[in-house]
Amino acid sequence: MRLFPLFADLKGRRVLVVGGGTVAERKVRSLLASGALVTVGSPAITPELQQLHERGTISYLAQPFQPEWLENIWLLIAATDDRDTNRRIAALAQEKRLFINVVDDPVLSTFQVPSIVDRSPLMIAISSAGYAPVLARRVRERIESLFDHSLGTLVTLAARHRPAIRLALPDMRRRREYYDWLLDGPVAAALRKQQPQAAEQALIEKLQHQDGPTKGKVVLVGAGPGDPGLLTLSALRALNEADIILYDRLVSDEIRELARRDATQISVGKIPGEDHNATQERIHELMREHADAGQYVVRLKGGDAFVFGRGGEELEYLRSHDIAYEVIPGITAAMACAAYAGIPLTHRDHAQSLRLTTAQFSRDTTAEDWASLAQANQTLAFYMGVSQLDWLPGQLIAHGRSPDTPFALIENGTRRDQRVLHGKLEDLTAQARQHAFKSPSLLLIGEVTALAPKLHWFGASIST
Ligand code: SAH
Repeated sequence: MRLFPLFADLKGRRVLVVGGGTVAERKVRSLLASGALVTVGSPAITPELQQLHERGTISYLAQPFQPEWLENIWLLIAATDDRDTNRRIAALAQEKRLFINVVDDPVLSTFQVPSIVDRSPLMIAISSAGYAPVLARRVRERIESLFDHSLGTLVTLAARHRPAIRLALPDMRRRREYYDWLLDGPVAAALRKQQPQAAEQALIEKLQHQDGPTKGKVVLVGAGPGDPGLLTLSALRALNEADIILYDRLVSDEIRELARRDATQISVGKIPGEDHNATQERIHELMREHADAGQYVVRLKGGDAFVFGRGGEELEYLRSHDIAYEVIPGITAAMACAAYAGIPLTHRDHAQSLRLTTAQFSRDTTAEDWASLAQANQTLAFYMGVSQLDWLPGQLIAHGRSPDTPFALIENGTRRDQRVLHGKLEDLTAQARQHAFKSPSLLLIGEVTALAPKLHWFGASIST
């Protein structure tokens, strides 16, 4: 072990920071957060440090370093940009047996400040002993994504009930199981949902009825359009914890590969032409069956669950069967395809509104509906099958949208095989057929789509 890890209690203890630049300022802020009494010594300081001084939050010595500053302090940080000064301070600190950190200088330092993941009171510190700080920071980022911010509250809650937990579960193994349940079960879920009272109640109830059945839950997760980089951190955590994953046809393989290895993955995709309502009923039953068996069910959908995803129906079903649920939004196809095709959905000069719509049931649409769809200076995003391209452009033109209106048709948006077709509304049907566009494809219509050839940045260049 190169360095001994140590968490110091600095509350009410005097700490000296030599230097008054932005690096010193950063150190001062984290020292203040831990309750240290901070003195800054430097001929000049940043405006922010000046403010802290004026408010009485820190003490300030407006001079170059003086050896007597080392009296009555517990430790010190040297953050001057002069290596000779730093070396002199380090030598004096050594003489006085004071721990010193010289910023970015592991050789002169007798203690180092680790990278941290802060879920206070839980704190994770990472150090490479100064050998590879950049790598340590990368590790920190990974850990940061593993634990959501409710973890700190969970630790505080568990600490408050620790005596009761010890009393109710004297057996160490049982106690450990209970803590696992705290981390994975309804208590953590309630805290994530900002319901601290429900969390505390669940914690107490479980202590009173340890052998009661554990209820599962369903998390509705938006998987985004395909590129795994577009998953949210919450979605990734859910995939890491799931027992059962019920996924749609549109969810990409790369995303499913991110799930916990021993999770059971079940395809519940709706196949075009088959009875969708029967499939939907089967999905409901699967959710109920597994949640009732106490499992963590992830219902994984392409894009966002609440945009043409029947997410509302699924929640109504869960609510009516008293099954706990959470919802994690995903990036919907319109936003993702637009971004990856270089098309701003709104634009001060070209579009003041955006409509997410579908061509699926447009055959029954009234003349007024069509007229409003045909208005200029709005962006239309059509979620639909490519067969609708045969008649949709003609309808829009018949109801007054200009035949010159530009469109962009995006196939497999955000995926490796993304294709973008671009042209005028009047040519859309013929062009889509000629280039054999297939599902999933998203159609964007409106003045903004004319920017696509200019702003294009992702994937194969576009065809017109
Ligand atoms: N809930 C999903 C939409 C489901 S409807 C979401 O929020 O994105 C299915 C339609 O979405 C497809 O027919 C297609 O029009 C569109 N779509 C979904 N993913 C897409 C992708 N990667 N590229 C292009 N279109 C996509």
